[in-house]
Amino acid sequence: MQHGFTEQEWMEFSEGAMGASSRSRLEAHLAVCAECAAKLDAIRVWHQRLSTEGERLRVAMELPEIDRERMLAQSLERIAAEYPSAERRGPAEALAALRALLGPVFGAGMIRAAVDAALERGAPGGINAASWSAFAAELREMIQPACGLAAGFLALRAAMSLAVADR
Ligand SMILES: [Zn+2]
Repeated sequence: MQHGFTEQEWMEFSEGAMGASSRSRLEAHLAVCAECAAKLDAIRVWHQRLSTEGERLRVAMELPEIDRERMLAQSLERIAAEYPSAERRGPAEALAALRALLGPVFGAGMIRAAVDAALERGAPGGINAASWSAFAAELREMIQPACGLAAGFLALRAAMSLAVADR
């Protein structure tokens, strides 16, 4: 789905975070490219699916530990079962998926800031299959002081469930 746009740009577009001029260039392409339109739809459905799981995780965080653990495990299982194939798991897509999943739990603004800070500290050379776990560990460090141990652990497990693959 590159067609003249980077994966980063596709994700910015799907998250509504793209500047006006790039956005109209991309919208013009979508109007004439059924392939990209279909893939963008698939990404949006996947991210919507993750947001729904995120809503469940937010509820789970309020529950006693045993129930919280059960709900978290079930959520991560469903996500793993539906995880799109490796060709769709580029670094930008994995980060967008993580923001979609954790946004409902921690707030979109907070998770965006925490992800950016964790990237800077854990994966300064960029995200790949090898640096993803260092990034996930840093994300936990970012979340934990403000939100507590259980929240930090949730962020770590969520990130590991969406790890990028080598491709
Ligand atoms: Zn296209």
